[in-house]
Amino acid sequence: MSDPRSGKRRERLLKWLQDAYAMEQEAETMMKAMASRIENYAELAARIGQHVQETRQQSESLRQCIQSLGGSVPTAKGLFASLTAAMHAAGNSMMEDEVVKGIGLSFGFENTEIATYRALVVAAERAGATDIAAVCGQILQEEIAMARWLEDHQDVLVSAFLDRDETPGAEAKR
Ligand code: MG
Ligand code: FE
Repeated sequence: MSDPRSGKRRERLLKWLQDAYAMEQEAETMMKAMASRIENYAELAARIGQHVQETRQQSESLRQCIQSLGGSVPTAKGLFASLTAAMHAAGNSMMEDEVVKGIGLSFGFENTEIATYRALVVAAERAGATDIAAVCGQILQEEIAMARWLEDHQDVLVSAFLDRDETPGAEAKR
């Protein structure tokens, strides 16, 4: 006799995987826009570029998890998330301290991702989907690494921004 809760658990897991997929579409759009605009902060641009690659792989891993549960990737939701992210990035670009605001927003976003994958690991374990729990645990490590990098480099990047900001003729914004 199967546990009547198991259907509900798989349903919940699938829903959260689809939410995470949409979140990653948003992340990719946001970071690509940010990386392409940075001109004077090479280290930041390189780290974001690396995380864009990781994010693409995360989307692919999530797609496989979703399909293994018989679900489909939410295209409309992903599209909406991308659109929102593009608008967000365009809004940021108008700020005169774009790079500083971008670092703060990215740090917030990475921490949202951390919380999302922690919840997914719990839900996957509960549903008995150990393979999916392992995938989400792996992605979680990448999000923690990115959040930590931003935290570790914020002071240096803000100082670099302020140095340029105080220098006549230097472009500090991005
Ligand atoms: Mg991610
Ligand atoms: Fe991330």
